[in-house]
Amino acid sequence: MMERYEVIIVGGGPAGLTAGLYSSRAGLNSLLIERGIVGGQIVNATMVENYPGFPRGISGAELGALMHQQAVKYGLEVVAAEVTGIVPKKTYSISTTEGDFETKALIIATGSEYRKLGAPGEERLTGHGVSYCATCDGFFFRDREVAVIGGGDTAITDALELTRHVKKVYVIHRRDELRAGQVLQQRALDEPKLEFVWSTVVEKLVGAKMLEEIKLRNVKTGKFSTLKVAGIFIAVGLTPNSHSFINVVDLDNTGYIMTDETMTTSATGIFVAGDVRKNSPRQIGAAVGDGVAAAMSVFKYVQEHDK
Ligand code: NAP
Repeated sequence: MMERYEVIIVGGGPAGLTAGLYSSRAGLNSLLIERGIVGGQIVNATMVENYPGFPRGISGAELGALMHQQAVKYGLEVVAAEVTGIVPKKTYSISTTEGDFETKALIIATGSEYRKLGAPGEERLTGHGVSYCATCDGFFFRDREVAVIGGGDTAITDALELTRHVKKVYVIHRRDELRAGQVLQQRALDEPKLEFVWSTVVEKLVGAKMLEEIKLRNVKTGKFSTLKVAGIFIAVGLTPNSHSFINVVDLDNTGYIMTDETMTTSATGIFVAGDVRKNSPRQIGAAVGDGVAAAMSVFKYVQEHDK
């Protein structure tokens, strides 16, 4: 027989874990489904310095583990599985790689994943000199020269983090000013191991088995150049993990799930929280806030549903 829940949460990052904490504490029979590592993207952050309550900072992995521990303490069940289908009936039937479940309400908290450049060689050389996670892979490039692609907070944080391991970091950005916040920008501009390559995009990644060089194009002059680097770290933003919900809830034209401030989606009984929703500030604190709002909306919805 299919296991029944009052709420199923898809995604185990800060948004999903917070929703699970609140829904469990509200007495709802709650299941969280996570296909990867519980904790979500934050587990890759060496140090989180802007989540309130931790004035000395906390590692993302530790913060994720604490959130997980706290939610489970109040009764949240967690299963490692991937959602493969959602069938709306009076309740929702959720198929996963670990079996089927039934739920009155669903919270989508699937977050986002690294955006790809789409350049030739990128896919083939991923894991062979091409990385999306400086914290995970920086260590492998000790005393080598590497490049970071992007000009946002992630790119600059990654570039600064890499200076602890590597000889030199080229920061290649498609414009001539950074998107990253002022504090990070200043730290980066003051760091002698960083060299900025402005108004430049990556055209091609070259290497037989391992990355050997990258072909660049200056978008202002149109000139091509080659840079020999042992590694590149691509940090050009994120795309929402909403593909499983395309025909279930309304998305905007970039794939983010449409919602209002109550985290309600276009489908009755389905709510959203965190980076996968439209206009998310994409911060841990914001994801936590969304998780609270979504769980409260679910609580109201389930009460109405049961009448
Ligand atoms: P982001 O803010 O969207 O920045 C992406 C960067 O990549 C931009 O500089 C963008 O250039 C560039 N870019 C996008 N597509 C590109 C392409 N196809 N080719 C070349 N360059 C491309 O993404 P993010 O840096 O990952 O940050 C995501 C969110 O997390 C943000 O809200 C950020 O504030 C937050 N975050 C915060 C911290 C922190 O310490 N507070 C750390 C990491 C992330 P343009 O500038 O020209 O658009």
